[in-house]
Amino acid sequence: MRKGLEVGEAQAIVLEATPVLGPETVVAPAALGRVLAEGVVSDRTLPPADCSAMDGFAVRASELAQASPARPVSLPVVFEVPAGGRAPRPLAPGEAARIFTGGPLPPGADTVVRQEDTEPAGGRVAIRVAPGLGDHVRPAGEDVREGDKILAAGIRLHAAHLGMLAALGRSVVAVRQRPRVAILSGGDELVEPDRSVAGGRIVASNSYSLAAQCREAGAEPVYLGIARDRPDEIERGLRAGLRCDVLLSSAGVSVGDHDHVRPVLEKLGCRLAFWGVRMKPGYPLAFGRLDAEGLPLVFGLPGNPVSAMVTFEQFVRPALLKMAGRVRVFRPVVEARLAEALQKPAGRLHFVRVELARRGAEILATPTGNQSSGVLRSMTEGTGLLVFAAEATRLEAGAVAKVQVLDDEFFAGAEPGI
Ligand code: AMP
Ligand code: MG
Repeated sequence: MRKGLEVGEAQAIVLEATPVLGPETVVAPAALGRVLAEGVVSDRTLPPADCSAMDGFAVRASELAQASPARPVSLPVVFEVPAGGRAPRPLAPGEAARIFTGGPLPPGADTVVRQEDTEPAGGRVAIRVAPGLGDHVRPAGEDVREGDKILAAGIRLHAAHLGMLAALGRSVVAVRQRPRVAILSGGDELVEPDRSVAGGRIVASNSYSLAAQCREAGAEPVYLGIARDRPDEIERGLRAGLRCDVLLSSAGVSVGDHDHVRPVLEKLGCRLAFWGVRMKPGYPLAFGRLDAEGLPLVFGLPGNPVSAMVTFEQFVRPALLKMAGRVRVFRPVVEARLAEALQKPAGRLHFVRVELARRGAEILATPTGNQSSGVLRSMTEGTGLLVFAAEATRLEAGAVAKVQVLDDEFFAGAEPGI
C-alpha cells in the first residue's frame, strides 16, 4: 500500500481500477441522463415522404410563374390532403390540392403555396404569388434516412435524444447500469438527525451529503446506517455493502485508537491501494478493491464533513461517472479572479471553497470564510473548489486561479438574455 500520494496520482489509481459497468435495457422514457450502451441506427426515413411545411395548396410551380397580386392565377381545388392522410390520385396539370402541415405532397405536385397567399372561392383557389420550385415542401428524409447512424454509444441521453428514440419507434433502449453505492457512517458519537445530540453526540450528516452527491452523479445510494467503533459492528456494516459496486465508509480510516475500519477491510480481503492523499481538506483517504474482479471499489473517506464531501468530489464522483459509461468524468474547470488573498504552507494541495459570480466577462471567486474541514457551511455557500497548488504558499487578491465548478447556477440568468 502506498502512502501520502499527490491528488493526481491518487485519481489516476482510482480511475485505472474502475471498470465500466455492463448494459441494461430500460424503457426509453426512463433513460434520461443515462449513457447509451448501443448505437442507434434508423429503420425508417423521416419524414417518410415529401410533405407540406404549411397549411396551403399543393401545386406545380411552373404553372404559376406569371401569378401576382394584380393577376392571380385561378386553379380548381380537386382534393384535400390532411396530415397523416394520402392523396387519392396524382395531381393533374392545371390542378391544385388543399394541403395541411405535415400532409404528404400528391404525386405531380412540387410546391406548396401558403394559404395567406391565396383566395379560395367556390371550389377554386386564386393564387397571388409566383412560388419558387419546392417552396414550403419538407423533402423526404430531411431529418433522418433509413440506415442513418443517429445516436452513438457513449452519449449521455438528453431530452432531444428521447424524442428521437420515440420518433424512431424505440420503446426500450440499452444504457449503462447506474452504480450502486453503499454508505456506512462509523463512530460512537454519531446519531441519526432525529435523535438528541445531548452529551456531545453528532449527527451522521455525512451519510446524507454523500447520498446526495451519489444521486447528483447519477448513482444509487444504499444507506447502511451507523456502525459503532467496534470491529464486529463495522464488519457487519461493510458486509452489508459488499454486493454494491462501491462501498463508502465515512470516518475511521485513520490512525486513531478507535479507527477499526482498516483492519476490518483487510480481514474482509480488501487490498488497499493507498492511504493518505496530500490534500486539504481530506488527507486521510483510503482506497482499495474488495476482490480481484475489481468490485466493489472501497473508499474509506475521512469523517470531517467537508473532507468527506471534497474527497468524494475528487475521487468517488469521477469513478461513479466512469462506471456509468461517461468519458468526461471531471467537473468543468473555469479560470476565476480571486476576490481576496490566500495563503497556506507548502506541501499539500488545498481545495478552497469559493462562491462563484459573474462579473462582466469574468468570473469572480470569493472564499466562503472559515475553511476548516469541520465547517460544513464553507460547502453550503461554496459553488466551486479553487485549486491552490501543493507547493504554492500565496495567491494574491486579483490573481486568476482554476476553480472546479460544483454548481453552475451562477452562470444561469434571471433575465432572458435575448
Ligand atoms: P474520525 O475520522 O472518526 O476521527 O472523525 C473526524 C470527525 O468527523 C469527528 O469530529 C467526527 O465526529 C466527525 N464525523 C465522523 N463521521 C461523521 C459523519 N458520518 N457525519 C458527520 N460527522 C462525522
Ligand atoms: Mg470516529
